[in-house]
Amino acid sequence: MSIKRILIANRGEIALRIHRAAHEMGIETVAVHSTADADAMHVRLADHAICIGPPPAADSYLNHAAIISAAEISGCDAIHPGYGFLSENEKFAEIVEAHEIKWIGPKPEHIRTMGDKVAAKKTAGALGLPLVPGSAGAVSDLDEAKAVSAEIGYPVLVKAASGGGGRGMKVVPEESQLESLMSQAKSEAKSAFGDDTVYIEKYLGNPRHIEFQVFGDGEGNAIHLGERDCSLQRRHQKVLEEAPSPVLSPEERDRMGEVCAQAMRDMAYRGAGTIEFLWENGEFYFIEMNTRLQVEHPVTEMITGLDLVREQIRIAAGKPLSLTQDEVTFTGHAIECRINAEDPFTFAPSPGKVTAYHPAGGMHVRVDSGLYAGYSIPPHYDSMIAKLIVYGRSRDKCIMRLRRALEEMVIEGVKHSIPLHQELIKQDDVLSGDYSIKWLEEWLKEREA
Ligand code: ADP
Repeated sequence: MSIKRILIANRGEIALRIHRAAHEMGIETVAVHSTADADAMHVRLADHAICIGPPPAADSYLNHAAIISAAEISGCDAIHPGYGFLSENEKFAEIVEAHEIKWIGPKPEHIRTMGDKVAAKKTAGALGLPLVPGSAGAVSDLDEAKAVSAEIGYPVLVKAASGGGGRGMKVVPEESQLESLMSQAKSEAKSAFGDDTVYIEKYLGNPRHIEFQVFGDGEGNAIHLGERDCSLQRRHQKVLEEAPSPVLSPEERDRMGEVCAQAMRDMAYRGAGTIEFLWENGEFYFIEMNTRLQVEHPVTEMITGLDLVREQIRIAAGKPLSLTQDEVTFTGHAIECRINAEDPFTFAPSPGKVTAYHPAGGMHVRVDSGLYAGYSIPPHYDSMIAKLIVYGRSRDKCIMRLRRALEEMVIEGVKHSIPLHQELIKQDDVLSGDYSIKWLEEWLKEREA
């Protein structure tokens, strides 16, 4: 059954991204928005727009009833949740499907399993994905924690089962500190997530973050689209992403990609997913799976030539994957810079009116953004206002083009992260691709000193 009209349950650049894919497929779009977003670009471009509530996301972009009514009133036959907001909410996915509206996302039971870290780790292990050594599941008491930690060796990491955003996580350097740090992790987890379940993992000293993009048709067919290296992070937030990873050989990519694709075949996974690993000394360790489209998906699009949102929509409409694994090719190199409305040195948010805007252009340069001159960036939401994605035949050419594109781009009226990216891509370690998940914060500390 084909899809004729999609409700986009999101805002900002990703709402625009979904609108573009839909229109290129001849599908109409309905934007929903809060009162703070009445003048947003996705609202202007969509075929129809419905205001669903006041600025706080809890009353608008997270309001199940308002979004379902908007879909019914406007005659939508599908909902795309984008990333964030309701994209990994299995209850909302279930409600959408109960209303006979197509959910452009994974099966609700897979969202549920992967959303619980202990269950996700068990499932990943059973599917043959390599895990970080650690407890088999939740650890119930100190004796068990001691036994597990002694076996895997210190330092260990105590993690919250319901964790997110790095909260409820404690590095334990040695046994004498286990008791106090474990109880700190538990109380942090209890107050942040209402659940003090914790588990234990070996703490990796200097890993990279490498994630694989997968796609399944829900019937047991699945492919992988290679990896993205997202090691440049600040406070667990990705800052710059690239594909392919500077450290993987084509053989390693094929081998690990196939392990991921096979896992998705075995679970009959549907739609887009990302399997995240830490990578150290040639070994992969599963950390989590995101059951949605990722912010950094364009770097994969640049090197494969595939439109990932189009693929998601096709799968939701019951069509097969548009290509086989043998038909997937990787060409060249792509880098994405996340541009936030924030001070590039203190990282303090900087919402407000954009007085001038000129996106970069030219060959192999893509800007995903809802900005325009005169637009007021509301203070209520995420600070990411644009993504600059650049392609080159080699990593060196990609970096040269990125430097040129960053020079061209103009955003006035608010502070933003372009100066940070300009500095970042001059650093020797970034130029050589020699960085781990610790690199950016250490560099920022040195820069401050
Ligand atoms: P969250 O959902 O809270 O973000 P993750 O499991 O994704 O938690 O981990 C967040 C980050 O914490 C990772 O990107 C990595 O930087 C660090 N981390 C997680 N597990 C380990 C580990 N076993 N060893 C070292 N660092 C880790």
